[in-house]
Amino acid sequence: MSATIVDGRAVAAELRAELATHVTEMTTAGNPPPSLAVVLCGDDPASAIYVRNKGRAAERAGVRFTLHRPPAESTTEELVALVRSLDGDDTVDAILVQLPLPSQIDPDAVASCISPEKDADGFHPYNFGRLAEGHPGVVAPGTPLGCMELLRRSGVTLRGSRAVVVGRSAIVGRPLALMLTNADSTVTICHSRTRDLAAVCHEADILVAAIGRPRMIDASFVKPGAFVIDVGTTPQDGVVVGDVDRDSVEPVAGWLTPVPGGVGPMTIAMLLRNTLALARARRGLPQV
Ligand code: NDP
Repeated sequence: MSATIVDGRAVAAELRAELATHVTEMTTAGNPPPSLAVVLCGDDPASAIYVRNKGRAAERAGVRFTLHRPPAESTTEELVALVRSLDGDDTVDAILVQLPLPSQIDPDAVASCISPEKDADGFHPYNFGRLAEGHPGVVAPGTPLGCMELLRRSGVTLRGSRAVVVGRSAIVGRPLALMLTNADSTVTICHSRTRDLAAVCHEADILVAAIGRPRMIDASFVKPGAFVIDVGTTPQDGVVVGDVDRDSVEPVAGWLTPVPGGVGPMTIAMLLRNTLALARARRGLPQV
């Protein structure tokens, strides 16, 4: 047996095309297009690439994209003032502050100025709380949403399945565990203090690695036929390496999301979906 390799690039392209159609429908009906404001502060080269990719994807989907580039030496107060002004600007539907911020800036103080109604990343405590209650709001964090979409479009039955999520961060592991729980999967969250990690993982029908440890998950962690989602991205010798040891896992798993080309492309597509959802909510339109 050899795992089906889940093509995240193809699924993300399909999703972006669907989103573009929804945007066109919205504008044809006389509504302004969704608008996304991104704040990029500092000169982290990886962040600049991420933001450029987000901008391109947004424009292709018909989403109005504005980039704000405060100087790297900005203070927390200056960034707070910028984000507050975007939050109060009626022409802005969604705001994203690209992380990491320069070290002199308090990221929580800046993030807390984004209201839940403009929370493009789905990180706001209100939106996270809705997810935790089992009644998600219109937005949720993009990377876990992308994982769920890959599962959904692969036709996997989540109800009653056993899922193990390795990693408990607020941006990936925890929200994904909540989404799987809300989809009626029985979920175990693992982390660096989990005992017998391989044995716990081996019980999973759906195994998610969101760790940041290159190739740590080998075949000994994987139940035959499992759906293995590799979220990890670690730069190593000029390439990006996942948490899953593909050579050993591919012959055992039923499905495998590769790195690169699996979860990564889905994250931007989900950011656009969040932007569309916020825009529709702000215009009083039903969600699609
Ligand atoms: P964090 O560093 O915030 O969290 C890593 C988690 O892995 C922690 O919960 C940690 O446990 C756990 N962990 C670390 N070492 C081990 C170990 N040996 N055994 C078991 N658990 C372990 O990372 P993120 O959640 O932000 O990201 C995880 C990975 O996903 C990274 O490679 C990141 O680059 C990638 N990523 C990819 C995205 C994409 O779009 N493809 C988007 C976001 C992230 P503990 O809590 O105990 O410390």
